[in-house]
Amino acid sequence: MAKKIMVTGGTGYIGSWVVKELLERGHIVKLTVRDKSKEEKYNFLQEIANQSPGELEVYEANLLKFGSYDEAIKDCDTVVHMASPFILDVKDPIEELVKPALEGTENVLASASKAATVKKVILTSSVAAIYGDAKDMQDQGLNEFTEENWNTTSNKDHQPYPYSKTLAERKAWELHDKQEQWFLAVINPSFVMGPSLTKISNSESLKFMSDMLKGKMQVGAPDLVFGVVDVRDVAKAHASAVEMEDVTGRHILSNKSVSVLEMAEAVRIESDKKYKLPKSLSPKWLLYIVGPLFGINSSFVKKNIGYPLRFNNSKSIKNLEIDYRPFNTTMKDMVEQMEENNMIKN
Ligand code: NAP
Repeated sequence: MAKKIMVTGGTGYIGSWVVKELLERGHIVKLTVRDKSKEEKYNFLQEIANQSPGELEVYEANLLKFGSYDEAIKDCDTVVHMASPFILDVKDPIEELVKPALEGTENVLASASKAATVKKVILTSSVAAIYGDAKDMQDQGLNEFTEENWNTTSNKDHQPYPYSKTLAERKAWELHDKQEQWFLAVINPSFVMGPSLTKISNSESLKFMSDMLKGKMQVGAPDLVFGVVDVRDVAKAHASAVEMEDVTGRHILSNKSVSVLEMAEAVRIESDKKYKLPKSLSPKWLLYIVGPLFGINSSFVKKNIGYPLRFNNSKSIKNLEIDYRPFNTTMKDMVEQMEENNMIKN
């Protein structure tokens, strides 16, 4: 049966794939945007809606404006809350990251509680709410991270983005536990890669690939490991969480852990070797010196470079029925899309 779903952050890199998936499955999507007059941010979603069995309605709301989601949420049975800035280069972490993430979550969930029709909330959190630095795995005596783990090492000065995601997810669980109207299902993606539907997102996912293709790392890759997941699998996970009755709790979404060098190698193979990609590792001592030029500070280098990182993704496979797309396909499709849409920016 078609569901009525308010989606925040649906104009973004991940959000637009989630909206597409929901429209193609025949649902009614109430999309919230910050500024309705900026039609270029959501026109492409209207075009997708015109060719899908689902319906799209657009409303104006802002994470920092209390009560601004009340109108869009009316009559909805489900809320997908994805809106939150994913930027790493910030001057004021509280204003730019923590406030929109934390106050935004409080704001959206207050509107959900006001609308008696809302029975389920899906929150897009991150593995950044599970761990702060790769070193945490070793320090906590773990072989891998699971949904049981929480980020306890980030703060406003060290890893502010993970800090913002941790505070927001903790707040969502706190508010969930105080009421009985809506269930909460949380999606915790690792680093999201794959093609973009929007050409105007500030997501670090797109910036990372653009930087790599421009040759920013050609002298040497940092010895960093990420969990990586395809954006289309992340969209499926959200849609499964919307449609399946008994989905609650946290869900790590990660296809596999790969190093930056392995990412570069996949791009090299899939792009006919036409980019200036790194072929070797940058020594850790060098990163202490040149890291700041690339937005990497010394405490990040100390706690992340050279450490392994593993995630257990079995809950996503069992409960959300995710069949992870091959990693090389993700990278190939992303490079081709960014080339086609002229998104490799200087
Ligand atoms: P994105 O493309 O920058 O999308 C962010 C979305 O949040 C946009 O729709 C943006 O709206 C909206 N937003 C930001 N500030 C807002 C505000 N004050 N009021 C209303 N809306 C606001 O980034 P993304 O990579 O798709 O990330 C989406 C979500 O996934 C975030 O919650 C992020 O933390 C999470 N996540 C991302 C990754 C990843 O690797 N990309 C991994 C794990 C989790 P505008 O269109 O108006 O800018």
